[in-house]
Amino acid sequence: MNDDDAAQETFADLGLPDGIQRAVLAHGYTQPTPVQIEAIPLVRAGRDVAVEAPTGSGKTAAFALPIAAWLSEHPSAADARVVRALVLAPTRELAQQVAATFRTFAYGDTCRVLTLIGGVPIEAQLDVLATGADVVVATPGRLLDVVERGALDLQQLETLVLDEADKLLELGFRDELEQLLLALPSQRQTLLFTATLPQGVRALGSRSLREPVTVRVGVDESTPPLIEQKVYQTDADNRRQLLQHLVREHDWRQTLVFVSTQRAAENLARKLQAAGFPTAALHGGLEQAERERALSRFKRGMTSILVATDLAGRGIDVPSLDAVVNFDLPRSPQTYVHRIGRTGRAGETGMAVSFVDHETEVHFQLIEKRMACPLPRIQLPEFPLTVQPARRRKGDGPPPVKGKRKSKKDKLRERGLLPPRE
Ligand code: AMP
Repeated sequence: MNDDDAAQETFADLGLPDGIQRAVLAHGYTQPTPVQIEAIPLVRAGRDVAVEAPTGSGKTAAFALPIAAWLSEHPSAADARVVRALVLAPTRELAQQVAATFRTFAYGDTCRVLTLIGGVPIEAQLDVLATGADVVVATPGRLLDVVERGALDLQQLETLVLDEADKLLELGFRDELEQLLLALPSQRQTLLFTATLPQGVRALGSRSLREPVTVRVGVDESTPPLIEQKVYQTDADNRRQLLQHLVREHDWRQTLVFVSTQRAAENLARKLQAAGFPTAALHGGLEQAERERALSRFKRGMTSILVATDLAGRGIDVPSLDAVVNFDLPRSPQTYVHRIGRTGRAGETGMAVSFVDHETEVHFQLIEKRMACPLPRIQLPEFPLTVQPARRRKGDGPPPVKGKRKSKKDKLRERGLLPPRE
């Protein structure tokens, strides 16, 4: 979406019920913020969403409005006393602000909000709970206390919000969150909001979200942040072994590998699988259901390597991706940026690895030139490049004549790093 579209967007365009639209306008909000424009329709559509946006970007309303809308459109039975939405917040103050936002926008009696936070007597909260609450906004410690007393049944929960997830983890709530996630029904909508996306938050996201859509607002999309780019020179035949080596060495749990054809995707996936790496292929030749299955198994960590073609890889959005590997180089610099942008979300270093050989080196130099980012070449002695690439840079002179120079392998042999020729 460009800025002009965003400027014209109104709350009416977001499909919110009239009552909520009136409450929003009465509160002085004339236009939705970018994060609200992106997230509200997704939440309304029932998707799990991971939102990465800075503090103060309007994220509370981005979940409170669609949740309040859902509750008003789908009221529970009059005598039901079940909690339908739960928001976990890192601090008491934030929990109170979130509860206040819900109270501002909810109308009618379908959105009774209860705050469960420490520092106030639990008995008063239990009394309110006994009369019924649709939305609970809580800090993890007090919530666990209430759950352990058997005072809160979360089995009918429809939506879970992890607000300021990075702060929840920073403040040491990891164990409480794990415990709480176990107490929640697995069939639910989960929304995760965070200002940064460190590894811990990605891991929390991949455990708690199902096929999430990621929304990034206020983070520069054009230059993928903090991506460590590495270029390995190796013979084409060594690439699979090198890939296996890198996965093991870096302990990558989720690796997305790009190849150029459907056949290459199938072949490589089969070989990696046979070598003991849980792998799936994802390409346009698969049925839609097969693609969804491959993607969902990858996101849930059941496979650790996904070998994809560019076309099929387009929709892949995995919050906890460790590395993107260009097994086959992309055709264009744009595709390179697009591929590597899938790793290294804000605040975290991702790794993008490319394999080049004597034939693809010149093509990679073009990508580098367009990126204005020359990268050093790495060669591991175990996975050598035996034919030297023809470097066609200005001033390099004529390309070296094949066979006249010592091969890399010969040089390695001289240094005793490879066994002598038979
Ligand atoms: P939050 O990121 O949810 O903490 O919101 C930051 C501030 O922006 C709060 O003071 C909100 O009341 C305000 N705010 C949120 N959405 C809007 C909007 N659409 N228009 C104007 N102010 C907003």
